[in-house]
Amino acid sequence: MTLFEPSETQAAVQKTARAYAQQSLAPDAARMDREQAFPVEHSRALAELGLMGVNIPESLGGAEAGAVSYALAMMEVAQGCASTAVTMAVNNMVAETLVRFGTDVQKTRYVPEITSGRFTAASFGLSESHCGSDPAAMRTSARRDGSDFVINGSKQWISAGDRAGVIIVWARTGAPDSAHKGISCFLVEAGATGLHIGKKEDKMGLRASSTVALTFEDLRVPASAMLGVEGQGFSIALAALDGGRIGIGAQSIGIGTAAMNCAVRYAKERSAFGKPIGEFQALRFMLADVDTELAAARLLVLRAAVLKEAGRPFTSEGSMAKLFASEKANRACDISVQIHGGYGYIDEFPAERHYRDARVTTIYEGTSEIQRLVIARDVLKER
Ligand SMILES: Cc1cc2nc3c(=O)[nH]c(=O)nc-3n(C[C@H](O)[C@H](O)[C@H](O)COP(=O)(O)OP(=O)(O)OC[C@H]3O[C@@H](n4cnc5c(N)ncnc54)[C@H](O)[C@@H]3O)c2cc1C
Repeated sequence: MTLFEPSETQAAVQKTARAYAQQSLAPDAARMDREQAFPVEHSRALAELGLMGVNIPESLGGAEAGAVSYALAMMEVAQGCASTAVTMAVNNMVAETLVRFGTDVQKTRYVPEITSGRFTAASFGLSESHCGSDPAAMRTSARRDGSDFVINGSKQWISAGDRAGVIIVWARTGAPDSAHKGISCFLVEAGATGLHIGKKEDKMGLRASSTVALTFEDLRVPASAMLGVEGQGFSIALAALDGGRIGIGAQSIGIGTAAMNCAVRYAKERSAFGKPIGEFQALRFMLADVDTELAAARLLVLRAAVLKEAGRPFTSEGSMAKLFASEKANRACDISVQIHGGYGYIDEFPAERHYRDARVTTIYEGTSEIQRLVIARDVLKER
């Protein structure tokens, strides 16, 4: 990718994602939101289009199209349906984590299931009820018992945890006070004895994606279910989240763009004081600001994706992209509601759904405050 022009592959992935998002997702998004209907069929269709493993080797069923293609596809899918996009984001993140840290057996057992859509979802089980920003404080434990590990504890806010064929579960294998050094991660399969799925959260937005608590009660896994080596769990989580943040930045841009597009349409249709409201300078300036901010966010997200694809460090750049894109997407959605006036506040128009969907983007996969901590650490180190 040059700064502005996608390569042939990237353009093809973007076009495929755009076509599906506009023709199939966007017309169904309001219904799915209203009914809290998990997008099972859409997830399968995205898998068939190669979008559940965009940056995954073809040998494992992926599209092998790179991190930039993934970001471009995510922007398109999120523009069509933010809930479907979060399932796509987590599936891609879990598949990439397995490819990077898994054994050959783990990769061949799980990755093709995710990329093919045979698994509706895969989950990322890191957060606990008392600690999201500070996962080193986790209490879930995995005790060695002969050739097995026995997992006890619980996780909170796990996207598609009730739909996942496989869940990456982080657990403490070291002493209770071992902080980040004593954490390992394990691959837990759907239906495992001792895995209990909690109630589905009734969320403000992303209502067509499920978010559940998971409890592990003497859940036994063989030592071969460990991902990476003992004690490596925390660095695996950080590595996964680095890439995940590019995905959430891209998702934010998709939601913000959808909000902006419906605001523009409305500004042309609605009249007040004898002229279309889009002719008032106050509204034109709002739209100009939003368009500028989303364009800048897009460049930040693509910069992080280009660095990732080149195998260069991108932790700080990924955090900048996620921080900026999620905050600007929230502003875009807020402005879109404002431009819609009273109609922005009711479900006759999609503006209120975009507003609700965008809200979580400054929270999950690291809050804005945590992104600022990551960026500041680098700023202070570099100068
Ligand atoms: C819809 C949804 C889906 C999710 N999906 C998943 C998932 O699939 N897997 C998963 O593992 N987790 C998931 N999460 C969890 C999510 O990542 C956490 O909610 C998030 O990391 C924040 O953690 P917390 O909720 O515990 O907030 P806290 O960590 O308690 O933070 C509360 C507030 O304090 C601030 N804060 C905390 N520490 C600091 C600090 N050092 N400096 C400054 N401010 C600070 C935070 O920024 C925030 O404003 C999901 C959450 C939601 C809402």
